[in-house]
Amino acid sequence: MNALEWPADLTDFRLPVKWDGQPVDWHGWHPPIEVRDLFLCSNNGLLRDPQPCSGCGHPFQPWWAQGLTADGRTSITIERCGFCNTTIALETGPDGTSEWTLDDSDYGPEGSSDNQEGNR
Ligand SMILES: [Zn+2]
Repeated sequence: MNALEWPADLTDFRLPVKWDGQPVDWHGWHPPIEVRDLFLCSNNGLLRDPQPCSGCGHPFQPWWAQGLTADGRTSITIERCGFCNTTIALETGPDGTSEWTLDDSDYGPEGSSDNQEGNR
């Protein structure tokens, strides 16, 4: 393992407990490199072209977690930069696909909800 290529260890394991009011069943965090090796050929939203992290500019090799809302209607993929904790949420639900940047308010007791300002 080349230390220069390996992203920082994840230190922030928070996930939104709810998504637009629905409890979310999360499946835990996965490290970045393995998923790219294992699923390199699959058509997976996690495997977008390498891009700099919007938070720190390091090549974005996010840790990731997937969850499903309790009603089964919305699946959420969270990607988090191990260096600066910039967190992107990719939501696929009845209304289509959305991409969000999460902030501290999304990890409170009420979870994350659309605040109608293009953010969460
Ligand atoms: Zn970053």
